[in-house]
Amino acid sequence: MGMQAAVRLFYPPTCLCCNEVIGSDGLCGACWRDTPFISGSVCDRCGAPALGEEAGVCDDCRTLQPPWGKGRAALTYGENARRMILALKHGDRQDLARPAGRWMARAAEPILTAGMIVAPVPLHWLRLLRRRYNQSALLSRALARSAGLAHAPDLLLRTRHTGTQDGHDRQGRFENMTGALRVRRPAQVEGRHILLVDDVMTTGATLAAAAEACLDAGASDVSVVVLARVDKRP
Ligand SMILES: [Zn+2]
Ligand SMILES: [Zn+2]
Repeated sequence: MGMQAAVRLFYPPTCLCCNEVIGSDGLCGACWRDTPFISGSVCDRCGAPALGEEAGVCDDCRTLQPPWGKGRAALTYGENARRMILALKHGDRQDLARPAGRWMARAAEPILTAGMIVAPVPLHWLRLLRRRYNQSALLSRALARSAGLAHAPDLLLRTRHTGTQDGHDRQGRFENMTGALRVRRPAQVEGRHILLVDDVMTTGATLAAAAEACLDAGASDVSVVVLARVDKRP
């Protein structure tokens, strides 16, 4: 019996969402059905499911004009996505990163280009100390591996502690993030297409600050991909 098999005997795979013992890695049938994977027409900028049949850019992106070019999301943010992201964040289920990276790679497939550099949105070092790892970096590593792209986990740096974005309205979130991120070594991004990775996109303020930092440092293009997109529809 191999090591892997032995481990499985004692720790059989459990559903990534509800922890129920299942036959293989991933989600149990019920969680799979209740997890809204985004498919079909989406906004090309933020990855939100398109309202009509027509693909293109959603009203929010038309109004806000995010600084990145294209974006995709694997899931709509809801109860199951929230549960999985919390488990990933707090370290209960780091094994979530690999399947989540695959889901994100699949969602992002139409916007992937050869030579892209995959980079996570960074945590401030204070928060990193407390949490020990950056969940977005786990996701970006898994995504880069799944898509066969270069990964730069330290591409961006948080220059100041921004606290939590919770409790800020949309404008407050953008103001809170302005200038909070920068590229560590501009030579690394010059003329390159950067794919930014985060766990959740709410207003897009954090990704906007990250994209602006990359463009300021000379990146030719920035695209974004998130595990879950908050559905803005009423
Ligand atoms: Zn389940
Ligand atoms: Zn959009």
